[in-house]
Amino acid sequence: PIRYRLARVPAGLPDAETWTRTQEPGRAPGDGELRLAVRYISIDPAMAGWIQPVRSYAEPVRVGEVMKAFGIGEVVDSRSERYSTGDVVFGLLGVQTEVTLPAKGLRKLDPKIVPLPKYLGGLGMPGFTGYFGLTEIGQPKAGETVVVSAAAGAVGSVVGQVAKISGARVIGIAGGADKCRYLLDELGCDGAIDYKAEDVGAALDRVVPEGIDVYFDNVGGATLDAVLARIRRHARIVVCGGVSQYATLAGARGPANYLQLVAQSARMQGFTMLDYLPRIQEAAMQLGALMMKGKLKTREHIMDGIDQFPAALELLFAGGNHGKLMIKV
Ligand code: NDP
Repeated sequence: PIRYRLARVPAGLPDAETWTRTQEPGRAPGDGELRLAVRYISIDPAMAGWIQPVRSYAEPVRVGEVMKAFGIGEVVDSRSERYSTGDVVFGLLGVQTEVTLPAKGLRKLDPKIVPLPKYLGGLGMPGFTGYFGLTEIGQPKAGETVVVSAAAGAVGSVVGQVAKISGARVIGIAGGADKCRYLLDELGCDGAIDYKAEDVGAALDRVVPEGIDVYFDNVGGATLDAVLARIRRHARIVVCGGVSQYATLAGARGPANYLQLVAQSARMQGFTMLDYLPRIQEAAMQLGALMMKGKLKTREHIMDGIDQFPAALELLFAGGNHGKLMIKV
């Protein structure tokens, strides 16, 4: 198998020099293990953080280790009674074409329900993240105003559509005219702000003069500050991620306008999808049902071949992805 290992910890975002590509012999499964052919590798903004030695929800990937990644694999050899050859599973498979690992901790997927890539997007980790973050922490009510950033992305697109279903007015923030058109024409957003083309604060004043009840934050930085300056009383800020800060994680600075939380008796709360692992089935049912009814649209951006890995991550941080980014192995 081909593997991508961490060669060195980058000072900023990962680039081609961050990785070593190796070709190594595979390993037969031991008791309770599976050997998987990796089919899809998920490309996530969090990867920039997973390689930085900062305090986080998981141990960082160390220099020399195979890069961590979510993925979908097909069982080619099984020493677990729960799986047979040909079964398809989701889990932390790493950036490699083949892996041998314990069956415990993997989730079996049904390729007949939706095409496999959806299990890395709307019907997978990003979809569950958007679903729980919005409904549990954001708690939008009918008639309220919800703003979401990275709105055209994997998590953001689910947030916008679920918020719409809850009866809220939804404004998406994304980079570029194409993505903004997608928000309005395909995802049903009531408004779209192109943060690369106009000042977010000025745009919010125009589009949501009433202020913001729920902000689902995927980007942090200047956008978070612009929103904080415009929250309504008892607003909820859902801190899902902060892509704009991932180049300088250790030096990330919080928002200047945080005292608006006091002035508006508002709440700002972070979370990780891991908090909701025991309830994944619930999210899968809800989102799956919406998808079947045509009420939840998601798109996948699929790059071909494991050697696209370094370029894929760079594309993600340039905003070049249209929907959930992944590699087809
Ligand atoms: P996306 O599909 O949204 O892709 C990332 C997007 O981020 C890009 O397309 C780009 O969109 C935007 N972006 C990149 N750089 C910047 C920047 N400097 N400033 C502002 N926007 C930028 O990725 P995901 O849906 O997978 O992830 C979205 C967020 O959710 C991330 O913050 C991620 O870390 C977080 N997340 C959190 C989880 C949790 O458990 N808390 C789990 C999964 C994801 P554009 O073109 O609009 O700029």
